[in-house]
Amino acid sequence: MTRLAIRAPLAWLGPGRAVPDVQVVCEGGAIVEVGRVRAVAETDEVLDVDGFLMPAGADRHVHIEMGDPVAMLRRGVTAVRDLAWPADRIFALAETSESPGFHGPLIRAAGPMLTAPGGYPIGAPWAPPGTGLEIDDAAAASAAVADLASRGAVAIKVSLNAEAGPTPSDTVLTSICDAAAERDLPVTAHAQGVGQVARALGAGVSELAHTPWSERLDDTTLAAAADRMRWVSTLDIHGFGRDTPELRCALDNLSRFHRAGGQIAYGTDLGNGPVPSGVHVTELQWLRQAGLTTEEALEAFVRAPIELGAPADLLVVGESPLGDVAALDDIRLVIRAGVPVD
Ligand SMILES: [Zn+2]
Repeated sequence: MTRLAIRAPLAWLGPGRAVPDVQVVCEGGAIVEVGRVRAVAETDEVLDVDGFLMPAGADRHVHIEMGDPVAMLRRGVTAVRDLAWPADRIFALAETSESPGFHGPLIRAAGPMLTAPGGYPIGAPWAPPGTGLEIDDAAAASAAVADLASRGAVAIKVSLNAEAGPTPSDTVLTSICDAAAERDLPVTAHAQGVGQVARALGAGVSELAHTPWSERLDDTTLAAAADRMRWVSTLDIHGFGRDTPELRCALDNLSRFHRAGGQIAYGTDLGNGPVPSGVHVTELQWLRQAGLTTEEALEAFVRAPIELGAPADLLVVGESPLGDVAALDDIRLVIRAGVPVD
């Protein structure tokens, strides 16, 4: 099998690791060597890049069929996680995305959002039939999680949107979390409305699909969240570049969550309004506003650090984004699974 050796004058491998004269060797879609530039085997291909090398991005909250997979990949995002779409369509697309000829990012999916009968997103204008799955009781909850797991779900999405309709009872919510935990699947919640984050915490939800924006969390809830949850950022959907009360509320919650040691993942909610396919620099800038350092914002954005065994998903940008994340507007080359993207 051909190996590809990428050589760059400067690279950011991951937190605290900005280094000169790097050589990264890719084989079979993974990184098999990271170090200083040195001689390689005659059969290895060598790619000298003129720019700054770093890991490629991942967007942990998209609705990919409402975006442009080709642009997504070209603009630096090599992996996405779809958080609510009809099961038949999204799991088929996820499988297609694994083939080398697919022009887009690797797609992983939750499938439909589990919700109460008549609850969000049933009937929401953006959601095709099947985007929500109505759950009547605890037994139906366990069965739904088992079915989604068998179809390849990487997370279970649950709707706790009390502003748009009924939400699952605590019994159903706990049953969803227990069935997911048995299969090592995270449960990610759309929590909207006063008290919904606390309910999610009480039932064992391990992630919020959005930074909370509909209430300011009290310190106790916030500390518990920082201890037990990851939050997906999705900040820019509250104003699309503009300052709004919802954005202010989310930034306040996120900065306190961050100070309390909470884990943050970059996600855009692609499909919800004018969010671009590919790296969304404004989202990264809001993360900086919430108090993350540039390096922390990049850490939230990348799929994985450049290290042995990591996916060979890389970017070359014109300048280092360690000074200013806006440098990510100038992506020169994307490599997915060890293959440069045309
Ligand atoms: Zn969404």
